[in-house]
Amino acid sequence: MAACLLLAAGCSSPKNTEPADAVDQLKLKDYDPVSVFKMEEHHPTAARFSTIDMHSHVYRDTEASIREWVKTLEENNIEKVIVHTYAYGEEFDRLYDLFTRVSDKFELFCGFDMSNWDQPDFPASAVKELERCFSKGAGGVGELSDKGMGERLSRQLREPGLHFNDPKFDALFEKCGELGMPVVIHSGDPIWMYEPIDAHNDGLMNAKHWQIDLSTPGILDLDGIVNAFVECVERHPNTTFVACHLLNINHDYARLGQILDTHPNMWIDISARHQETCVTPRATKHFYEKYQDRILFGTDNDPDPEMYRAQWRILETEDEHFYLTEQSYHWPMQGIGLSDAVLQKIYHDNAVRLLASRKR
Ligand SMILES: [Zn+2]
Repeated sequence: MAACLLLAAGCSSPKNTEPADAVDQLKLKDYDPVSVFKMEEHHPTAARFSTIDMHSHVYRDTEASIREWVKTLEENNIEKVIVHTYAYGEEFDRLYDLFTRVSDKFELFCGFDMSNWDQPDFPASAVKELERCFSKGAGGVGELSDKGMGERLSRQLREPGLHFNDPKFDALFEKCGELGMPVVIHSGDPIWMYEPIDAHNDGLMNAKHWQIDLSTPGILDLDGIVNAFVECVERHPNTTFVACHLLNINHDYARLGQILDTHPNMWIDISARHQETCVTPRATKHFYEKYQDRILFGTDNDPDPEMYRAQWRILETEDEHFYLTEQSYHWPMQGIGLSDAVLQKIYHDNAVRLLASRKR
């Protein structure tokens, strides 16, 4: 009986004449299945409600290409995009002027000036530059990032750089709270990127592109990075933090929920994690329903029309077992099928609430 259960195709042994050679020769990287399921499909061409994309970048850098982007936004029912520039100083000013000249759909977030983070006048110099960016028009700070070797700009100057719980950041995060600037932080990466690239890695086909080498001296693992971030959020209760990409722990919704429960000044964005979250559609739906007031929509991907449409299909429909033209994992996509009430908050209303905190 047990043997019969194991052989899902029927209660007879597989024949030795099966095309084992083809399987032996097929490379995993070439595996490109096509869904056979005959089911009703839904392909929303625009977001069901007016949407704010809380997580994008400088994907276009000329007036003409930004104008094209605006056209795509209009077609997709996106009313506003937050562009995380990472920039400060003249570069921030240039980007601010460029984007706001083309359209009022864009709002720009600045980075921290980390250029002299190991000098005695830091953080005073960085706080001064933050205030300057704010008066120029920066609506928040983003995206700061730590994948284990410290904050991105700091580690470019000297490795390891600063983690977000380093007291050197305190004055900057306090200033953000004072100005009402939300701080968007990328901590870690999906768990598969920290696991060995071997036969047991569940997210293998994407993990191999983004692998993080835990043998690097001084590196923190995913737990260490998440803990450093949470410590920072705890230390600055008057500052609003957005943990982007669901704090990269959507494989453990219980933990993510517990962190949200204990830190009311923290929000999450779901950007660039549609493939990671839609693989568990029921758990994800349950989580999004429970934390519907703390979740922000974002994309964090090149703004081509197909990318936007993939978001609407996954979030709005209950389509099952489909593949995207461009996808990173071996698994099929599943629609999460959020209710209108939850969509309205995640697409729009939560972002409006968050962005209203700025002291202008
Ligand atoms: Zn990003």
